[in-house]
Amino acid sequence: MKKKINLLILASILGLIALSIIQGYLINNTYKLKKDAFISETKRSVLRLDDFSAPLDSLNNIWQDKFLETLVDYKAKTVTKTEVINRLQHVIHTINEPFKQEYQNELRKNNIPHGIKFHNKVRTIVLIDSLKNDTIFNFNKTPRLIVLGDAISKENALSVNTNLWQSEHTSVREVDGENVKSTLYLMFYTEGVMGIDNWKTVIFKQMIGLLTLSLFIFSFVIALLYFSIKNLITQKNIAEVKTDFVNNITHELKTPLATLSLATSILKNPKVKQDPQRFEATINTIERQNKRLQKLIDQVLNNSLGYKEIQLHKESVHIESYLHTVLDDFLLTVASENVKLNRHFSITTKTSNIDKFYITTALLNILENAIKYSDKNTVIDFKVESNTQLKISISDNGIGISEQNQKQLFEKFYRAENQAIHDIKGLGLGLFYSYQIIKAHQGTLTVKSKESQGTSFILSLPQQ
Ligand code: ADP
Repeated sequence: MKKKINLLILASILGLIALSIIQGYLINNTYKLKKDAFISETKRSVLRLDDFSAPLDSLNNIWQDKFLETLVDYKAKTVTKTEVINRLQHVIHTINEPFKQEYQNELRKNNIPHGIKFHNKVRTIVLIDSLKNDTIFNFNKTPRLIVLGDAISKENALSVNTNLWQSEHTSVREVDGENVKSTLYLMFYTEGVMGIDNWKTVIFKQMIGLLTLSLFIFSFVIALLYFSIKNLITQKNIAEVKTDFVNNITHELKTPLATLSLATSILKNPKVKQDPQRFEATINTIERQNKRLQKLIDQVLNNSLGYKEIQLHKESVHIESYLHTVLDDFLLTVASENVKLNRHFSITTKTSNIDKFYITTALLNILENAIKYSDKNTVIDFKVESNTQLKISISDNGIGISEQNQKQLFEKFYRAENQAIHDIKGLGLGLFYSYQIIKAHQGTLTVKSKESQGTSFILSLPQQ
């Protein structure tokens, strides 16, 4: 059975791990899909904005016009390539701030989420004339150049589109008193780049519902599994306890029944009938076994009571005389030469309000155990303190109880797992019942024990 449960636990853990991997995989896939959808949706919106915004167009025109003018000077060889780029950068610098502000305005107007940055990156600038192609700027050789827009960190940069600005520009210059007309063809390649600063947060927000739900379902499955296995273990323990109980009670009943059957056949014997002494002895045996059977049945019947079902009839009791009587009666029932009982009384409050019948039963259970679970010479220390509460501690020098076993000691049918379980008869009900009695008195019953050294039961009752 234990093996089966272990297998079940292992299978459940493996199942859970597999489930987590699948769940993780699905969440990751959803994340990627959402990310792609979000990025392409934003790209589309940004492109639309780039195509239809008049204010952005006019700002673009400013730098383009200036750039064409510079190119005329370049053609006339009055400026170098580096200067062309420097002048372009200078113009961009002067209009970049208004461009960025206008861009954000347009984003707002078009309900495109904030946190989007955009810039146009120059890839190549080529001048074409009838004789040759003249590359002014090529991103492969020169550091990248940005035309209008925000700086975007590399990890957030997403390419949106590539643009080509083609222009044919004619200019007239005076050279040596004559007007010389010159035409230039320009090819200006740029790449639109977008950066979404908080895209992870946006996607996370979109997925929060899904994440919460899957976390909830996952926790639910774990909890369900945990409680099912716990329940299974409890059921298994109960089944074991029940089997033990049936075995124990059968064992306990067998001896008196066998004796009774033997005694009855003895009584049938005509010789015994004529021998009054033997007859009397056999009748006494029958009476004793009968009492034993009655006690056993009472124990099972009474001990099924929980503290709520115990009906107390409390009375004011003189503590010292009451406890001495209980101890004296107890000593009468045991082979007193093997038992040493030390009594210590420290009484401030003389009386206590208790149910004598039940408290006697609880005390006798503990005292009988002290003898049952010890080797030959039992020493019992019976200490009583009575002030704001009545505290009775009963210590023995017996076999003791391991810490592990102490945890379940007051449970119904529980018997500690040790050698004594086989050698000493019992039903595992005495301490359960004592605990219920003390609880019904709103008191506490605790245990302190060390294996092979002894055990102390401490019983505390409120003084009412
Ligand atoms: P029973 O004695 O019929 O088994 P109890 O409920 O009285 O049932 O005790 C439960 C278990 O607690 C016992 O089986 C025994 O293992 C352990 N126990 C009780 N009292 C003592 C004691 N004084 N010393 C050692 N073990 C004890």
